[in-house]
Amino acid sequence: MDKIEHIGIAVKDLEASNALFEKLLGVSHYKIEEVASEGVKTSFFKSGPNKVELLEATRPDSPIAKFLEKRGEGVHHIAFAVDDILAEIKRLKGEGFIILNETPKKGADNKLVVFLHPKGTNGVLIELCQEIKEG
Ligand code: ZN
Repeated sequence: MDKIEHIGIAVKDLEASNALFEKLLGVSHYKIEEVASEGVKTSFFKSGPNKVELLEATRPDSPIAKFLEKRGEGVHHIAFAVDDILAEIKRLKGEGFIILNETPKKGADNKLVVFLHPKGTNGVLIELCQEIKEG
């Protein structure tokens, strides 16, 4: 696994949180992207080498809506960059981690993503993401 690619934060009101994080980080979000399959609207901030992803639910049965209901706003996941997501899935499965989707999905920000069940990772949802290379 490589560096932390971003930290995902679940929010109730993306517009209000965009304004808040803009004040906090001193930069505007550089992208808003909806991932319809996941029922989520995301926005991304870059602060130095760091990235923050804000996530708002777009329907009541989406994973983010469920998270907000259970735990309220806050850190939702930590994403690590990987070079070879399939090799990492295999490795982590071998170590006994529970992979939520064994086939990588297309996530926001041009990434292939998989998630590890927080049950096996001290309560923290872990995302692995691999940049989708063009061509
Ligand atoms: Zn993420």
